[in-house]
Amino acid sequence: MADSAVPLGRRPRLRKTLAAAIASVLTAALAAVALSAAPASAADCSAGYVGLTYDDGPNPSNTTNLLNTLKANGLRATMFNIGQNAQNNPSLVRAQVDAGMWVGNHSWTHPHLTQMSSSQIQSELQLTQQAIQQATGSAPKLFRPPYGETNSTLKSVEQQLGLREIIWDVDSQDWNGASTAQIVQAAGRLQNGQIILMHDQYATTVQAISQIAANLRSRNLCAGMISPSTGRAVAPDGGSGGPTGQPTVTPTNPGGGSCTATLSAGQQWSDRYNLNVSVSGSSNWTVTMNVPSPAKIIATWNTSASWPSSQVMVAKPNGSGNNFGVTIQHNGNWTWPSVSCQAG
Ligand code: ZN
Repeated sequence: MADSAVPLGRRPRLRKTLAAAIASVLTAALAAVALSAAPASAADCSAGYVGLTYDDGPNPSNTTNLLNTLKANGLRATMFNIGQNAQNNPSLVRAQVDAGMWVGNHSWTHPHLTQMSSSQIQSELQLTQQAIQQATGSAPKLFRPPYGETNSTLKSVEQQLGLREIIWDVDSQDWNGASTAQIVQAAGRLQNGQIILMHDQYATTVQAISQIAANLRSRNLCAGMISPSTGRAVAPDGGSGGPTGQPTVTPTNPGGGSCTATLSAGQQWSDRYNLNVSVSGSSNWTVTMNVPSPAKIIATWNTSASWPSSQVMVAKPNGSGNNFGVTIQHNGNWTWPSVSCQAG
């Protein structure tokens, strides 16, 4: 409609024609919104939470890629850092936190702690607490012993430092040459509350992430935090359940052009979370997002947004393609917005 031919050099006419065209587009858009108000299905972590863990970082050659891949797949994980690595790469420790990850202690030099004295153990754990505290502003509450080896001497030092010992339920065997398919398969065995061992430094491990995300979604499981009080995987702090990694598909509007908007989880913080919106079926789309009160959209990217009302955002392409995103301040309501898509 907007690209219908209008004779040049006849400005007054042109304006009238344009005004009429705009009015008709608006009417059509409003009608489309009314027609396509079917709410998206609710986000789903109904089968519970699992703890993804990555040990032995941070490392300048791997950690950034690992974090980007986790973020791109809407996953959060716990990073058990080696203290010396944290000391040498404090900006990567901060990047872990900024990417929505939790940071745990994995000893200073990765020794066999069960062969060490109480004071040696204390030094290994304490130095690591300090390095991570310096990088992030807070000391870890979780500790993973190297090789999963523990004894009563170690446990008493952990207790003195207020650390919860975290082993694992599932070993991905990435350290032992497991293929990407084998790592994905291992993650497929995770049940509610359970924790999987993976590592920062293997390409096979990073390559497994998108399939792990898909597997968890298919089983209504979400990647959660590890509770310092129980040692089990639970919903992240800051909400009842939290947003989920479950993509939401809105049916095509039967009354208009065909397009589909699909939501997926992005990064998450205690007070806000990101949602990615992927539009398919048209590159000339209008996506309407209804945000449940009192949540608010506080930022957008890769789209041109307008606000018919405080809880409704209308998003159109801004030349950045068919994927855009929003940051939502949840204000206690973690329910995802409903979305509808109108083409043309
Ligand atoms: Zn380790």
